[in-house]
Amino acid sequence: MSLIPILELPHPHLRMVAADVAAGRAADPAFQRLLDDMFETMYAAPGIGLASTQVDVQERFMIVDVTDGHEQPLVFINPVIRARSVELRVHQEGCLSIPGIFADVTRADGIEVEALDRHGKPFVMAVDGLLATCVQHEIDHLDGKLFIDHLSPLKRDRALKKYDKLRRQGH
Ligand code: ZN
Repeated sequence: MSLIPILELPHPHLRMVAADVAAGRAADPAFQRLLDDMFETMYAAPGIGLASTQVDVQERFMIVDVTDGHEQPLVFINPVIRARSVELRVHQEGCLSIPGIFADVTRADGIEVEALDRHGKPFVMAVDGLLATCVQHEIDHLDGKLFIDHLSPLKRDRALKKYDKLRRQGH
């Protein structure tokens, strides 16, 4: 296994909309290796989610594991959110593609997501709390969206200025 470089803002590919993963792709050993490498990369970062677009692959899939001990590695291929709770949840989010920046983002507290697992098998999963936040954050990536897009213009501006400053300082 090996670590994959993670694209960082302002890399333009982070704004690309990923295309559906082709049928049968899960049977490709290279695809399975890519998933393993993405898990290794995410755990090493460390992070709790990583979308394909963050490692410059423009196909709709992502990985998530919000446990402390790498206990629930999840793969979502071609994920679609089928339902969202009315209740909202605020979480201070960060992103491996915007290192050093954290901000409160409001999203649905619970969602029902439909996807294929790493072997191409369809499943539907109801998730809430941190896992729901993380899944929504990663699906945004597949649409070229970043968590800072959810902030008010003032807060986004402030976050981007701080990010520029951090980068100039070499962080
Ligand atoms: Zn992210």
